[in-house]
Amino acid sequence: MLILFAAPALWPEYETLLPAALARAGIEAQVVTEADPAEVDIIIYAPSSWLQDFTPYVKAKAVLNLWAGVERIVGNATLTQPLARMVDPGLTEGMVEWVVGHALRHHLGMDRQIVNPGHVWDPTCPPLARSRPVAMLGLGALGLAAARALQAMNFPVTGWSRTAKEIPGLTCLSGKEGLRQALSTAQIVVTLLPKTPETENLLNAERLSWLPKGAVILNPGRGPLIDDEALLAALDAGQVAHATLDVFRVEPLPQDHPFWAHPKVTVTPHIAADTRAETAVEVLVANIARARDGLPLLHLVDRSRGY
Ligand code: NDP
Repeated sequence: MLILFAAPALWPEYETLLPAALARAGIEAQVVTEADPAEVDIIIYAPSSWLQDFTPYVKAKAVLNLWAGVERIVGNATLTQPLARMVDPGLTEGMVEWVVGHALRHHLGMDRQIVNPGHVWDPTCPPLARSRPVAMLGLGALGLAAARALQAMNFPVTGWSRTAKEIPGLTCLSGKEGLRQALSTAQIVVTLLPKTPETENLLNAERLSWLPKGAVILNPGRGPLIDDEALLAALDAGQVAHATLDVFRVEPLPQDHPFWAHPKVTVTPHIAADTRAETAVEVLVANIARARDGLPLLHLVDRSRGY
């Protein structure tokens, strides 16, 4: 079996771990970074790849994306091979830590103590998490894990997704009315949705107005989920108290973008979660075995939905 690792920048992280994981699974395969397209059985891919035309890869049984988000490949008209996205325990763990960390920062009002040039002794105690409702927009691999972690700290979490769900112990909503309901009580909103035509500008001026005044937004999903101008207006009006943003329409965020200097915006540079080679190789190997055996891929992308 010939596996093309078409993500050169990431190769140093995988060049030892991937062959070792394949050997452990008893899969006889050669992993290469360049190959005759007609000979390739599996393609491992990242959005930064040089590979844009999948037409000559006539034998390839799968394209395995190293990232969870697929918006930069899902619309590629030359891609006819099945596409799997990355669901990696290491990536999920990282996202849970980012969401919990930034939620706790705002919940506890930590900034008041961390930045306190006047040495003000303000003994106001923050409320308990149990009285701080959270809306988790997106209940996939990452959103559900983050929701569970927040619930474990007693935050009342309401989840919202495209399809209706019944998840034990979690209030789940869907649809337009569900979104209004989820937002209308949320003091913290977390957006863990993919970028698709349906989710673009999901948080626009109207929907931001559904939030209780002073809500906080955490966006580790994708930049276009939020209308930048509407968010800035909501921040300036006090409707939104703070936005912690990890993802942007243009990355790196241009130096002259108003988010950098805005006192109510925290910019983190797309570091909420990263695919971790140590755990991701096991996911790749599981899918390579499935492709070899003619089984449906895990975490298969539905191109008609865009995620
Ligand atoms: P999943 O595909 O597992 O979950 C996506 C969730 O979004 C699902 O619950 C889905 O609903 C919901 N959804 C999709 N479209 C809509 C819609 N139109 N309306 C309502 N809900 C919708 O993705 P992951 O959880 O693995 O990842 C989520 C996103 O996180 C990625 O797409 C990526 O953009 C981002 N990400 C960011 C990273 C970072 O470092 N900042 C790192 C990794 C990922 P349903 O369940 O009904 O299908």
